[in-house]
Amino acid sequence: VVDSDSIVNNSNTKSYKLPYEPAHEFIFNSLKKRIESINEDTCAPGEENSFFVCDLGELEKLYKNWKLELPNVQPFYAVKCNPNEKILQTLDQLGINFDCASKSEIDKVLSMNVDPERIIYANPCKASSFIRYAQTKNVLKSTFDNVEELHKIKKFHPNSELFIRIATDDSTAQCRLSTKYGCELSDVENLLQAVKDLDLNLVGVAFHVGSGASDFTSLYQAVKDSRYVFDKCIEMGLPELKILDIGGGFQFESFHESSKVVRVALEEYFPGDKVKFMAEPGRYFVSTALTLASNVIAKRTISNNEAMLYINDGVYGNMNCILFDHQEPIPRILYHNNEFHYYDFESSTNMLKKNDVSKYPQKVSIWGPTCDGLDCITKEYYLKHDLEVGDWFYFPNLGAYTSTAATPFNGFQQHSDTLYINSLKDAL
Ligand code: PLP
Repeated sequence: VVDSDSIVNNSNTKSYKLPYEPAHEFIFNSLKKRIESINEDTCAPGEENSFFVCDLGELEKLYKNWKLELPNVQPFYAVKCNPNEKILQTLDQLGINFDCASKSEIDKVLSMNVDPERIIYANPCKASSFIRYAQTKNVLKSTFDNVEELHKIKKFHPNSELFIRIATDDSTAQCRLSTKYGCELSDVENLLQAVKDLDLNLVGVAFHVGSGASDFTSLYQAVKDSRYVFDKCIEMGLPELKILDIGGGFQFESFHESSKVVRVALEEYFPGDKVKFMAEPGRYFVSTALTLASNVIAKRTISNNEAMLYINDGVYGNMNCILFDHQEPIPRILYHNNEFHYYDFESSTNMLKKNDVSKYPQKVSIWGPTCDGLDCITKEYYLKHDLEVGDWFYFPNLGAYTSTAATPFNGFQQHSDTLYINSLKDAL
């Protein structure tokens, strides 16, 4: 039941149109079933820990959407974003390839019997021992952006299929990457000369416009800059490049818009079908697929209508994305006063970031379970209900850059407890 009262202008609620039916009821039912099975008066320590619900059907829907918008671009999922095995297996079955950043990510993907051809080792600054390891596993594709890397590759993995990573203008992105990686266009000629002198096999160009970019002209510019590198190779007598890797940075909410820019740019600078296109999306594929539920374990009442709530997940756990990824997880009331509260995940809310005292009288701050004062999820939120110990929150869209970087700080184990559903297959 959607509470019409609660459909208000929440500054946190993004308004975008879903290209497919959302699976809110499936997710809600799974959260409910799990919580109903926990008796907080008698349960074993940690049984009430936070947990995820992962909708594997969402991955399939997102891939369909990808093929609709960017049919000529083969995705290599960025494993770092969420290395959950079931997610990797589902993506593998869909025919998605993989972007790995380290030896253990390569191992994880190879252990699923994925052909090494379907892996790109997309880290421009690799340890020599990892380069040697990639060589033993026949992982050929990798990126570089400096001459020193080329010397390591010549020594340890001379048959590599190399992508030169160029810097982009990521100044409008939420998470910038070009401050650390990518060569400037002014360095390209020197690097291409080094490739030629070392007789290495350059196959393509790669870039990443940063995550959460609000201005897609950077994508257009990066495709244009890539064309410059393709042309420079011909001018310098190097073999013609075959692949353009347009990186990651795609977001579900703006995918329609950003992929349109990509299509226009590719059509303009890479017309015809000679060049193959690939991408390294992470966030796009997993952000909306996972919902986190967390239990109110303690409460400090400050006044009649103000309290500090302590929950059993925080910035050292799955909500490290607040610090590392500039995310603002959106809390929703799931269980209060022996009742489950079902609200439409997308367009309504039962909590507000802005004060509206008449409807949302309870002011709360929400804190994680560690003893660090930094472990704060939100300093100010407004609720209809006066929550109590034992109540539950849920946080939608927490699949990207969350569990992957959780720490066991303060002795709280990393939360890997995940319930799987498939909204395309399961019955409601
Ligand atoms: N490729 C590389 C080289 C990256 O560093 C990242 C993220 O850090 C990604 C792909 C995935 O980016 P996103 O999750 O923004 O799509």
